[in-house]
Amino acid sequence: MSFGNKFDRYIAVLFFVTIVTVILTSYYTLKDVINSHNKQVQSAITPLFSLVTSEILRPLRVANFMANNIFVLDYVDQEQIEKQTIVDYLNSISTSYNMVTFIALEKHNIMLDSNNKQATLDSKATEWFHRLKVLPAEQFTDIGNADNPHLYFDNKLRNSKGEFIGFTGVAIDLDYFSEKFKEYSDRFGFELLFVDSNNVITLSSSNILKSESLHRDALMTHLSDLPWYQSLRKNNHANTDLSNEVMYTTDQGLLISQMPIQELNWRMFIVSPPAVEQSEYWRIFLSRFVLFFIIAIVFYLALLNSITYLKARLIKQSETDYLTQLPNRSHIHYRFDQLAKKEQNLCVVLADIDNFKQINDTYGHLVGDDVLKIIAEQLSATLRKVDVVGRWGGEEFIMLLPDTSAQQAHHIVERIRKNIAELSFPISSTSGTFTTTISFGICQLPLPTTPLEEYIEGADKALYEAKNNGRNQSVIFN
Ligand code: GH3
Ligand code: MG
Ligand code: MG
Repeated sequence: MSFGNKFDRYIAVLFFVTIVTVILTSYYTLKDVINSHNKQVQSAITPLFSLVTSEILRPLRVANFMANNIFVLDYVDQEQIEKQTIVDYLNSISTSYNMVTFIALEKHNIMLDSNNKQATLDSKATEWFHRLKVLPAEQFTDIGNADNPHLYFDNKLRNSKGEFIGFTGVAIDLDYFSEKFKEYSDRFGFELLFVDSNNVITLSSSNILKSESLHRDALMTHLSDLPWYQSLRKNNHANTDLSNEVMYTTDQGLLISQMPIQELNWRMFIVSPPAVEQSEYWRIFLSRFVLFFIIAIVFYLALLNSITYLKARLIKQSETDYLTQLPNRSHIHYRFDQLAKKEQNLCVVLADIDNFKQINDTYGHLVGDDVLKIIAEQLSATLRKVDVVGRWGGEEFIMLLPDTSAQQAHHIVERIRKNIAELSFPISSTSGTFTTTISFGICQLPLPTTPLEEYIEGADKALYEAKNNGRNQSVIFN
């Protein structure tokens, strides 16, 4: 049975190793997933900074640079100016930085831009001039030009005495912005929103303000128009310090990061889709694992069950002689060892069918087989429960009779011998019958020190004697 135990242990170890492997694989897979998620987040940050720098801060700096160019200030402050000189200047900046540049001069009542457009300051197109002039700030961002909306970076121009003389700055096509930001948002899955100090959305990666203009107040999109912002306000998040980076999670599960763009007094919002947090990964991992574990346990129990069944069948088969269904020689050894452990005395009897070769020769092997079967039944039917009967070889049987003296064994064996001698064996091919006899050798020795071989030797000698004395008899070895 030690093989069976070993096998069970082997299966259990296999099961355990499988579970451990699955846990480890899942754990490392999860770690990889989290790492790659973090990596992706990281990889989204760098392009975001360069996007903000190149698309927002660069135009702003160009506008600043133009507003502080002393030569330009001195030139435009004169009574007489050459329009072409100014247009050439605007064009040169425009080509260098790839953006529309403009200048609007109060004294000369003119607005010029690098696209060669010009307007007087009392036209509809220059409405912004008067609107921004009266505001206290020096620098503005403004969405203008309703047909083809542009984001304007407007800077006040002041002469050497500090008097207001006009505006200069750059303009960028909103379609261009939205294309740039959309590219980013498509690539990384974040939405970008830029909001000025009045909480008006100035730029966004979605289309919410593509064709809207600050000229038309009713069409402006306010931050407070957005559902996620309303939910933040409801939770008292919206009043947080505007000058700091903050991160919120909204009721809808959106992850919102706020970043100030101090140069413009703007805020940038990065809106991520519902964040699958790391705990969520763990939850998935655990639920999957529990499911797998249950399946594995069920599978293991089913496997164990069929193995137990197969094992029992296999053991039974390996212990039994197919023809007679009696224990075979190897099982007899096992049964002997068992008896030797607990019994004091044992009688071993060897039985050998007389002239069996003749039966085979006369009636054929199949009839011989039948004889073996019938005699096997006869032997086992006659014995006690504690006795063991088995097939020792060809037409030889063995009986282990525990706690039995040689005389008692002789008595039992004689009864069997007489019974068999009186049996009529059928000849399957005809309706006739025949009889046969059997001889016995009996050997009684004390347990537990005597090995089976010694019993066999004794019983064999007695059997030889029985054969020699004319067969159909039982002889005790002494
Ligand atoms: P003795 O009285 O001296 O024992 O003579 P015997 O003919 O019985 O002895 P022998 O050993 O010469 O012959 C035994 C025969 O038993 C020979 C063998 O073919 C036959 N035999 C052995 N196993 C089987 C079996 O499974 N089926 C059949 N039909 N015959 C078997
Ligand atoms: Mg024989
Ligand atoms: Mg024989």
